[in-house]
Amino acid sequence: MSNADPIVIVGGGQAAGQLADSLRREGYAGAVTLVCDEPMPPYQRPHLSKLYLAGILAHEKLLYRPRDFYAERGITVTSARRATRIDAAARQLHLDDGSTLPYSGLALCTGAVARRLPVPGADAAGVHCLRTLADCEHLRAALPAATRVVCVGGGLISLEAAGVMAGLGKHVTVLATQPRVMESIAVPAVSDFFHGVHASQGIEIRTGCTVTGIEAANGAVCAVLTASGERFPADLVLVGIGVEPELALAREAGLSCDNGIVVDEYARSSDPHIVAAGDCTRHPNAILGRSLRLESVQNAVEQAKTAAATLCGKKRAYAQAPWFWSDQQGYRLQVVGIAGRNAQVVLRGDPATGSFAAWCFEGERLVACQSVSRPREYMACRRMLENNLLPTPVEVAHPRFDPEARLPRKAPLAFQRRSV
Ligand code: FAD
Ligand code: NAP
Repeated sequence: MSNADPIVIVGGGQAAGQLADSLRREGYAGAVTLVCDEPMPPYQRPHLSKLYLAGILAHEKLLYRPRDFYAERGITVTSARRATRIDAAARQLHLDDGSTLPYSGLALCTGAVARRLPVPGADAAGVHCLRTLADCEHLRAALPAATRVVCVGGGLISLEAAGVMAGLGKHVTVLATQPRVMESIAVPAVSDFFHGVHASQGIEIRTGCTVTGIEAANGAVCAVLTASGERFPADLVLVGIGVEPELALAREAGLSCDNGIVVDEYARSSDPHIVAAGDCTRHPNAILGRSLRLESVQNAVEQAKTAAATLCGKKRAYAQAPWFWSDQQGYRLQVVGIAGRNAQVVLRGDPATGSFAAWCFEGERLVACQSVSRPREYMACRRMLENNLLPTPVEVAHPRFDPEARLPRKAPLAFQRRSV
């Protein structure tokens, strides 16, 4: 691809913003156009269930890069415009205003959309989801008039937002189908800790609870109904039951998809002119030894750097230990790696003190660390996973185990080995 060839990016999240940035950092001098159906330049979703929902973060602070950033680098941002079709043979992207954009390289950063609650009444006024800035503005506008809030789902959105809304004085109930909160991502000690801190702030958490319907009066929600026959009064409902990857463009263009656009370690799709990055991809992870789809800022940003390098003709494989954080009730959970439901845990520290780390093993192999208020321990585990310097459960359980001392000075994180 010569530098004069146009590159088009579809998306307005962190993957798209980073990819545009990285193209210029890689020295790409050709035309770059970013097309997004949301009305503002790429922004950071994590604030939407945290400080922005709480009303203590300015709108501009949501932006991934300052507004002028793109124009200063000759990147055209086309907002509020949806890409409707890829003509892969002609290498043209069709937009919803009837226009087309020719490309020599196309990057799909189409992310994910919130899963809808599949029960009667779920379209009543007062039932919200939280994926986009528009969703968050809608929710914030409804909050002053709400007194009883029900959060459906026991995952990250539900718990983070429940904490914020309880802090705003709302009576909050969380209804989770799983036997414990964050069951798919947290080991029992971590689930129990956060269940406890939320309950201590007056949030009622009901686990093993399946929502079967939303009751409305005059078109507006008034209660949430469950399979056990219970009725939870509510004047506002937040549904946080996961996401589905946005694959419409990719599927229609015939790209290989399997719960995500299938890409290789260089972010290349099954079409040689199309790369993809972020929540919408299914990709191989050399550290985990398998393919997966991730939903995190780290994945969006780091895979986008690889995709940009690929579009510039450079081969820089994406191979990092997945990580994310979650802020709940003043505590920061930091997770690196992925622990299966049967992982064995060595617990360091004491949850009763609010500072502990769950080191997770599959057999003898370290696979993850889930830490609360122990950032150095989390970071040490990240370096261990990425440098394959894995301690045994017996070593970690030793009272004098010092994770940092165990690492050689030069054990960099994977992203530090990359030039851009
Ligand atoms: P997205 O951010 O989903 O962006 C995709 C963009 O593409 C959207 O703007 C969409 O409108 C646009 N688009 C899709 N199709 C088209 C089309 N055909 N034409 C034009 N535009 C299109 N992760 C963490 O690691 N830590 C956190 O604390 C955290 N908190 C979160 C809190 C909330 C409330 C949410 C919703 C997510 C949170 N996440 C967090 C997850 C993280 O935000 C996502 O993993 C990340 O945003 C994924 O980025 P992305 O660019 O791949 O996709
Ligand atoms: P999530 O963290 O995946 O949790 C969704 C929860 O809802 C899971 O426990 C899931 O159970 C459950 N669920 C699935 N279908 C259900 C149904 N029909 N009824 C009731 N419960 C159901 O998703 P989320 O909390 O909605 O968050 C959405 C996205 O934002 C995710 O990508 C998440 O990673 C991201 N996010 C991240 C952070 C963070 O990293 N700090 C914060 C907020 C949001 P199963 O697991 O058994 O399917």
